[in-house]
Amino acid sequence: MQWETIHKPIEHDDPSPNMGDYVAERDAFTWEDARRALDGLPGGRGLNIAHEAVDRHAAGPRREHVALLCLDRHGERNEVTYAELAESSNRFANILDTLGVVAGERVFVLMQRTADLYVAALGTLKHRSVLCPLFAAFGPEPIRQRLELGTGCVLVTSPTLYRRKVAGIQDRLPSLRHVLVAGGSTASETAEGARTLDLDALLAGASSQYEIGPTDPEDMALLHFTSGTTGMPKGAVHVHEAVVSHHATGRIALDLHPDDVFWCTADPGWVTGTSYGIVSPLVHGVTSIIDEGDFDAERWYSVLENEGVTVWYTAPTALRMLMQAGADVAKAHDLSRLRFVASVGEPLNPEVVVWGQEALGLPIHDNWWQTETGGIMVANYACMDIRPGSMGRPLPGIEAAVLVRDDHGNVAVSGDGTAVESAVGQEGELALRPGWPSMFRGYLGDTERYQSCFAGGWYLSGDLVRRDEDGYFWFVGRGNDVIKSSGHLIGPFEVESTLMEHPAVAEVGVIGKPDPLCGEVVKAFVTLRAGYEPNEDLRLDLLGFSRKRLGAAVAPREIAFDQHLPHTESGKIMRRVLKARELGLSEGDTSTLAAS
Ligand code: ATP
Ligand code: MG
Repeated sequence: MQWETIHKPIEHDDPSPNMGDYVAERDAFTWEDARRALDGLPGGRGLNIAHEAVDRHAAGPRREHVALLCLDRHGERNEVTYAELAESSNRFANILDTLGVVAGERVFVLMQRTADLYVAALGTLKHRSVLCPLFAAFGPEPIRQRLELGTGCVLVTSPTLYRRKVAGIQDRLPSLRHVLVAGGSTASETAEGARTLDLDALLAGASSQYEIGPTDPEDMALLHFTSGTTGMPKGAVHVHEAVVSHHATGRIALDLHPDDVFWCTADPGWVTGTSYGIVSPLVHGVTSIIDEGDFDAERWYSVLENEGVTVWYTAPTALRMLMQAGADVAKAHDLSRLRFVASVGEPLNPEVVVWGQEALGLPIHDNWWQTETGGIMVANYACMDIRPGSMGRPLPGIEAAVLVRDDHGNVAVSGDGTAVESAVGQEGELALRPGWPSMFRGYLGDTERYQSCFAGGWYLSGDLVRRDEDGYFWFVGRGNDVIKSSGHLIGPFEVESTLMEHPAVAEVGVIGKPDPLCGEVVKAFVTLRAGYEPNEDLRLDLLGFSRKRLGAAVAPREIAFDQHLPHTESGKIMRRVLKARELGLSEGDTSTLAAS
């Protein structure tokens, strides 16, 4: 189906977008200017993420502005101002000093989305130790593996998470010197009390004054584990200079303005929830919503309405679930304050972009990046027309290319050492010219793998895309998800998006199934919307529907119904697990597989 371009400006463009014209900004943009937009530590002592995110606001006119608006599971609201956040994160940094933790050591955080998590995260960055956020739904073994790989010396957690997940592995972690448990009296009531420290008591006793030490922009700040969609998660190393990207992308790609109420729905256990759930909004001095609850359509719309969210950053799976709940649920809420909606993490089907207009009165702006890139790289912008199904154009300051891969899947390099670029409209590997501030500096403990990410002067993303004549990028599939059938290269995303256009379909995962004749055939696993029954008639209808739109060579040969597609905890469809199940093989590392 040919989706119509969504033209800008649209009526919600008030205030006017930070970036008025994409091409003009691209021509004028330099990372040096972006750096100058930040303060730096007083006295020229370097650049520290937490200073930019908290202290500079606490020392200025935004001192009493609400930094975090925390909503707990029971509907209680708790506002934390920039001044309060500065003081409590100072206390946390002092605790680390008292415990003898030194700059560069790793502090892991395993917590629900409460204010304590943000205090610990920012205090750690002030202290110049390395922040490693973990997702609270991880089981004990994934937690242990990551702590071991990152040689964590401090773990901050809650009483419940401690009892359920940490107590049993603590003895097997020789590098782990301290476990800090937030939650006051509850912590000391645990039988393991002696093996943990009471964070609330420590915070109460610590000084609220702290001077951030000299911070080299190249000092390691964050260790992020990838989502594990394609295999064992990797630990990506990021430095304090990343804050320059977080600020620039917040301005350009999320269009943050000083009076915005911003909601990033990702958990800080994933890079999106840190780069855009902690750093970017705070660096911009806006109010950020911290919601402890899990996804629920009705509640999410209530948060958008009641808290007057103006900029919303979420993910395709959540949007597809909202779509499933129906536009009526959305229309029962006053979402008139909402100005800009963006999505990341997975390909965003054009159907969903357009649904946004119908249900929210706003299109969804897809953008693309990875744990490794640390920040948004390709995006749809407030000022730029949207081509539904496209991830947009490269961020100003980012040079992106589509590189040809040879028959072995390697990037083709010509005689002079430069990589060969694909022609317009041709598929190839999305590559980025290294040098932006939030670029990862390595995979912890795996130099070889890090080096294999570069060729011919480019960073290779591992994703396949094509670029149209106007420089919009279109996602085809992850390098290892692309299906080779009878000499055709088939991107799962195209097949999935086509099936999504059928009224019965809520979500789809597509894989290549080995076939003696064709190499691989396309198989689709379909989740149905409420009210539809999985039966043979519907299966034939879906087969015919996709064949008519995609042609016999690309359309799925097989369709199976599956109401519980395997997802990562961060909400991505795990096609490798679908494939392993189909072939009766081991599912590999499933530490990030969500319970269904
Ligand atoms: P792993 O590397 O462990 O397999 P992962 O790649 O899913 O996991 P992340 O770094 O969280 O870990 O995800 C980045 C990947 O998510 C991208 O490389 C891309 O495949 C996919 N992705 C992110 N945003 C988009 C988007 N807008 N459109 C299509 N794909 C996207
Ligand atoms: Mg990846």
